[in-house]
Amino acid sequence: DPTKYADWQIAEAAEKNMKTIYQIADELGLQKEELLPYGHYYGKVDYAKVLERLKNKPDGKYIDVTAITPTPLGEGKSTTTIGLVQGIGKRGKKVTAAIRQPSGGPTMNIKGSAAGGGLSQCIPLTPFSLGLTGDINAIMNAHNLAMVALTSRMQHEFNYTDEQLAKRNLKRLNIDPRNVEMKWIIDFCAQSLRNIIIGLGGKTDGFMMNSGFAIAVSSEVMAILAVAKDLKDFRERMGKIVVAYDKNGNPVTTEDLEVAGAMTAWMLEALNPNLMQTIEGQPVFVHAGPFANIAIGQSSIIADKVALKLADYNVTESGFAADIGFEKFWNLKCRYSGLKPNAVVIVATIRALKCHGGAPIPVPGRPIPEDYKTENVGWVEKGTENLLHCINIVKKAGIPPVVCINAFYTDTDNEIKAVKRICESAGARVAVSKHWQYGGEGALELADAVIDACNEENHFKFLYELDTPLRTRIELIAEQVYGADGVEYSPDALAKAKKIEADPEMAKLGTCMVKTHLSLSDNPNLKGVPKGWKLFVRDILTYKGAGFVVPVAGAITLMPGTASDPAYRRIDVDTETGRVKGLF
Ligand code: ADP
Repeated sequence: DPTKYADWQIAEAAEKNMKTIYQIADELGLQKEELLPYGHYYGKVDYAKVLERLKNKPDGKYIDVTAITPTPLGEGKSTTTIGLVQGIGKRGKKVTAAIRQPSGGPTMNIKGSAAGGGLSQCIPLTPFSLGLTGDINAIMNAHNLAMVALTSRMQHEFNYTDEQLAKRNLKRLNIDPRNVEMKWIIDFCAQSLRNIIIGLGGKTDGFMMNSGFAIAVSSEVMAILAVAKDLKDFRERMGKIVVAYDKNGNPVTTEDLEVAGAMTAWMLEALNPNLMQTIEGQPVFVHAGPFANIAIGQSSIIADKVALKLADYNVTESGFAADIGFEKFWNLKCRYSGLKPNAVVIVATIRALKCHGGAPIPVPGRPIPEDYKTENVGWVEKGTENLLHCINIVKKAGIPPVVCINAFYTDTDNEIKAVKRICESAGARVAVSKHWQYGGEGALELADAVIDACNEENHFKFLYELDTPLRTRIELIAEQVYGADGVEYSPDALAKAKKIEADPEMAKLGTCMVKTHLSLSDNPNLKGVPKGWKLFVRDILTYKGAGFVVPVAGAITLMPGTASDPAYRRIDVDTETGRVKGLF
């Protein structure tokens, strides 16, 4: 009974009977040399071998899980992703999940791990939550190596004359210390590292300048891991990362710094997706973990490709709501992968709909207001406006939406009936799912609705083409997806947009929006479907390696802060058994 235990206790109990990674690999149809075990219960998969062996095999069905706009109550996207996989598994189908690896920042802060919850979780929980096979460490090393290359080069160029540089076979790059695009990374929420001064000391202690840290999962290297198709593609992208600009405003790349090859070397193992399992023993691929508000927000293309060759159904998850996570799945991930989704699940809870419909907004860390425990069909009906908006976003992509009401014990029949009626009249399938409480057995209604949706013919299409000018694309996303009345730019962002539109190479890059996940608008306080507002684009970044132009809307930072009551206060190790407790 999951209502009596914490998620980590449920995971711990399930881990007593979990399958070995050899059994998981065998059931998945992997050949011996394609599995790279890390101990007995998880491992990596040699993606290149699998894709080569199965290149002529047709892909399975491809499903993305997204949600309504998040509220402090949580909607249960990861839980639903795992629950759906367990439900489809119960129907006797070969099914996989492909999810993101959690970042140490949220795991140690207030969000916790992202393994799902209740009887729908990815296990073993401890390695899943704490670094797994080291991919994020590899990303940190690769990324920070670029910063080492940059800062040591600046020091040497400052200390040496042109002849001295020539003797070392170096050409002066003339890097502008006030125009350094890249920061260092660390995988925690460390607000005091946002703005720092480096290079204090003497002549041999580096070049003194402003610098800072971003969270590891916002790194361009992470974005490249999510979108790269193979090693060749990965290596090319790693060379295009813009680290800084020279004094004439020209980009200085990782290739210019002669560091892209070594960065790729650090990442070799990380290119292979990780393989784990659900509580009920279905395979789960875990690979790449960019956030969806500040980055692409998708697990890797490589993992999806491998999963679709091996399984009849592969369920992936895009971060946060349909306006940002799904929009990037649709217009970026699917464009780069060439894969076509068959169905999209939109997760909602009755409680979150109440929150969108006008119930008092809960304060994280305080008890949930009583209003959420008693029936209020009015608030639920009003809150479905946000859900209907998300349904329409998915329909614009031409894919059939399936609404999943992730059931809580406080939901009433009248509230559920209201949501069903409203969504069905908007043309969406609706399923109530109790996977959190009952695992796959509780997700059969959802599994059937998704299988049914996958058999429907669909007309998948992108919102914009790559020859659409940048500002037109931003307007399309703002108006068609967010529901804005238009777009405004800061003078800086406008100048950058014009420059990008005039540059034939940059004009063809994808558009990866940065916006708060807490509202359809760029103001995190506005719930429901905000009306009569314009999207404000403050800045535009370019991630040439990942292949994105990144318009930044509103005040959002690439380095979150750790709160006053973070999760690490409750995490410890049982010194008798050596097991970790308190993860969630
Ligand atoms: P998201 O992926 O949307 O951030 P998660 O799936 O990680 O959300 O779930 C957030 C938390 O909510 C987890 O601790 C999970 O156990 C809990 N949760 C999810 N669904 C339910 C449910 N139906 N009943 C009770 N708790 C739930």
